[in-house]
Amino acid sequence: MPCPWYKDGFCTSPVLERPSTDPVIPEKCLGDETVYKACKYYREPTSLSLTQGKLYQSRFGRPLLLIHSLSVKPSSSCEFFVVEKHESGVYLAGCEVLGRYLTRYEVPLCEKHWDECPYRRIGLLLREEK
Ligand code: SF4
Ligand code: SF4
Repeated sequence: MPCPWYKDGFCTSPVLERPSTDPVIPEKCLGDETVYKACKYYREPTSLSLTQGKLYQSRFGRPLLLIHSLSVKPSSSCEFFVVEKHESGVYLAGCEVLGRYLTRYEVPLCEKHWDECPYRRIGLLLREEK
């Protein structure tokens, strides 16, 4: 069995800011448990729950309002796009695949081009395997 964070050529470890091919070494990622568990990017996969809300709370952390706050409520048809109303009154958007808040620059891309997003493709693969 490969590392549970290895998906479709990407490392999806929550340690990374976003899924990446950079840390992938086939001998390591596709190796046995003792090999991949020694990887510095490896974390116990209990945190990889794509259940809405659970992952959101455990992985999004604290928002940086300077780059994350939105004055208008965002909307995307992507199933991994999460919207939160901050206590200050602004809106925040997060991505369950990336496990973090989305910046103001990224939100319009999720709103308009969600069906072309590579992270969504990874998220759907992860859901299929659950
Ligand atoms: S072994 Fe390390 S680099 Fe490879 S998928 Fe797992 S966590 Fe990522
Ligand atoms: S469109 Fe992509 S980046 Fe945006 S929420 Fe969906 S998966 Fe995440």
